[in-house]
Amino acid sequence: MITEFAEKLFIDGIWRTGEGARIPVENPATGEVLAHIAAATPAEVDLAVTAARKAFKSWSRLAPVERSKALHRLGDAVSAEADTMARTMTLEQGKPLNEARGEILKLAEACHFYAEEAVRIHGEIVPNTTTDIDSLVVREPIGVVGAITPWNYPAELVGWKLCAALAAGCTIVIKPAELTPFTALAIASMVEKAKMPAGVVNVVTGSGSTVGQALVEHPGVDKIAFTGSSAVGLHIQRSCPTIKRLSLELGCNCPLIVTASADLDAAAKGAVRRSFRNMGQICIAINRIYVARPIAEAFVRRLAEAADRLVIANGIERPDADVGAMASAEPLNKTKAHLADALAKGAKLVAGGSAPEGDAFARGHFFRPTVVAGCTHDMKVMTEETFGPLVGVMVFDGLDEAVELANDTPYGLASYVYAKDMDEIRYLSSRLDYGNVAVNNVDAGIMNAPYGGRKQSGVGYEHGREGMLEYLNFKHVRIRYDEPKG
Ligand code: NAD
Repeated sequence: MITEFAEKLFIDGIWRTGEGARIPVENPATGEVLAHIAAATPAEVDLAVTAARKAFKSWSRLAPVERSKALHRLGDAVSAEADTMARTMTLEQGKPLNEARGEILKLAEACHFYAEEAVRIHGEIVPNTTTDIDSLVVREPIGVVGAITPWNYPAELVGWKLCAALAAGCTIVIKPAELTPFTALAIASMVEKAKMPAGVVNVVTGSGSTVGQALVEHPGVDKIAFTGSSAVGLHIQRSCPTIKRLSLELGCNCPLIVTASADLDAAAKGAVRRSFRNMGQICIAINRIYVARPIAEAFVRRLAEAADRLVIANGIERPDADVGAMASAEPLNKTKAHLADALAKGAKLVAGGSAPEGDAFARGHFFRPTVVAGCTHDMKVMTEETFGPLVGVMVFDGLDEAVELANDTPYGLASYVYAKDMDEIRYLSSRLDYGNVAVNNVDAGIMNAPYGGRKQSGVGYEHGREGMLEYLNFKHVRIRYDEPKG
């Protein structure tokens, strides 16, 4: 599937060989170059936006039921190709094949979810001062969306935007991450299979600073839907040359609080899953853990044992591995730097801490799931997003202190609690200043509930009905009627 899409852009329903510079895409588990992409030129970005504008005229006026059917067809096409699409993702991103397949199926789920939402967009009639006036509040699609996405969830983060935008009646130009362009191009080929009209979905590849920036600056783009780092999100917000709608899903440094009433086995299991899945390269990854003093030792022991048990492997060779390679040298180096910083400031290494040994790991970006205990808030692991397989543990005395530490961050995306005591659960969930709070589980985001961050973690929502509202404008239509004569 990868060579098929090498150097291609998907614009106006046509696969075009890009005219811009070639950028290599590597397999992070082996260091091999898989293929090259073409960096879209300004003229090609313009072509994609123009195609999306043209398609918007008819797509936005299509009966919602027809948009719904098209999204269902897309969901079916994606499910049918789940194996090949998952292989493409594992090759370019590094996550184990089974996990990649799960992500592709989640993309299919998003297609079907928003296919259902597409037929449920309705307005309201609101009360007026006199009875001869109707005030209709109707919803209309925003227009052309520029979607800019990161590399950690190459299918879902494209899919949530694409499905919600199309359901609302918008058209879209997608700029995927440089590290994982082929999954996005594979999605475009499913759009083609689903017989969506030309121009409704377009994919242009290339770097953020050129192709992404060209979308941000293009006057024909009405909304930017961005997922990525807070630094780039802020840059985008500042650099829009005209007023545009923006949704920004950004970074975090997510806390977990484990109270004295918690089920320690469940808490350790949850912590390991949410700290190390996808090698910790998740915006909602647990990066720091606050544990009540009386249970701290027992919890850390369980956590370290569970982390050490994780199977690490090349995700193509071991589809069922727990963790694979990291996506590139950059998050790996940041992980090592945060670990060194914690150890230099007095933290104790209790699991991992180095690359796994053996020839199989020699050329890829591998690192063992790592736990450091005895942390304090002057360590980067506790205050900055690591975006890698590293978690820090710190002891607390009293729930007030736990809340204060957990909220002591510029971020506000997701937080986690393990506790059995109902009073503790109520207290903590109401005081954690985060868009998502997961209690006794670690699935902070599900398809039918809004998912979004506060503070430097962003603005706007994905998932749920709220995710689709991000692509709709309100219009107030106020109509005065005359009494019929005679
Ligand atoms: P990144 O910000 O470096 O890049 C994200 C995308 O923005 C890429 O496609 C990149 O090419 C593009 N980009 C870079 N500079 C740009 C510019 N000047 N103009 C326009 N586009 C530009 O992020 P990343 O390293 O790919 O991903 C990791 C980050 O994403 C982490 O901080 C993580 O927390 C965040 N993330 C957030 C969520 C969420 O839902 N909140 C989900 C996944 C990842």
